[in-house]
Amino acid sequence: MEIKITKTTTPQMMPPEEKLGFGKVFTDHMLVVDWEQGKGWYDARILPFGRISLHPASTVLHYGAEIFEGLKAYRRADGGVQLFRPMENIKRMNRSAERMSLPQMDEQDMLELLTAFVRTEEKWVPKSFGTSLYLRPYLFGNDETLGVHSVHRATFMIIASPSGSYYAEGINPVGIMIESEDVRTVRGGTGYAKCGGNYAASTRAGERAAKKGYSQVLWLDGVERKYIEEVGAMNVMFKIDGVVVTPEISSGSILPGITRKSCIEVLKKLGYTVEERLLSLDELVLAMESGKLEEAWGCGTAAVVSPIGKLAYRDKEYVIGGGKIGEVTQKLYDILTGIQWGKCEDEFGWVYKL
Ligand SMILES: *Cc1c(COP(=O)(O)O)cnc(C)c1O
Repeated sequence: MEIKITKTTTPQMMPPEEKLGFGKVFTDHMLVVDWEQGKGWYDARILPFGRISLHPASTVLHYGAEIFEGLKAYRRADGGVQLFRPMENIKRMNRSAERMSLPQMDEQDMLELLTAFVRTEEKWVPKSFGTSLYLRPYLFGNDETLGVHSVHRATFMIIASPSGSYYAEGINPVGIMIESEDVRTVRGGTGYAKCGGNYAASTRAGERAAKKGYSQVLWLDGVERKYIEEVGAMNVMFKIDGVVVTPEISSGSILPGITRKSCIEVLKKLGYTVEERLLSLDELVLAMESGKLEEAWGCGTAAVVSPIGKLAYRDKEYVIGGGKIGEVTQKLYDILTGIQWGKCEDEFGWVYKL
């Protein structure tokens, strides 16, 4: 795919690395590719970062035809830049597109777009351990009509945001509230697709939890409200009586996280037993009451792993692992971040050097 590059005439400076939050500062450029039915993808271009113009009837504004991805570019100690399992994001983006009736893109083409964009924005990849350049590919339907049908026009974009260390203040376990009212998605729905609508529908529960002093909710399945699914916008894992248990993703209502997949592969290599299966809230409560729940953590690209120190259900609060980060959680954090920032050997072949 040919990419036309127009450089900005007003390049910005990166703020001091310790001042970078998440998703507030954007780099100098953005990548845009258009698609039309019958014509396919065309006009791949890297432009100065700026506002985009949409028709007021654009599909995305009315019917929510939008999907996205999230991955990071990491700066190694030798100054080089690398991605972590980018093909996994690319494949997932196509699966999300298929679910939302949006156009898919050739995997190699998408990898080329991604790497060309990161090379253009190289100077925006911060240097300190824990910091990264967060990459946000996204795709939306862009027909200029209110008619309800599959899209005939779409736009793929990538923007990037230099981000500070998620754990600038150290890894502190979080308090989580079990959500018994709202559900995130249902079987047969869009749970496995990374689409904006899933987020819009789950914000309310997160805000209610925050008001009560919890940082996120633990989602139950949307049919029986019986089985554990995810925590906030992360996958979730538990260590119960020495065994790591994580909800299976076959129902289609859980987002198949790349961090989840990587955690499972690391744990198996370390010799742990990992069970991907249905995990009911009853079983979890029993494990908490009998003291068999040893560790719990969320996992996702942003935080890598996020230890859960407290779980609240109805009017009861359970403390997990004395409210401290557990041994397995810490080990996963050290190994994954070690590979991502190029501090330890990548025996899995996950790193993609630019
Ligand atoms: C992105 C996301 C995750 C985590 O996926 P990673 O590939 O590990 O970043 C988990 N759950 C939801 C709902 C997500 O959107």
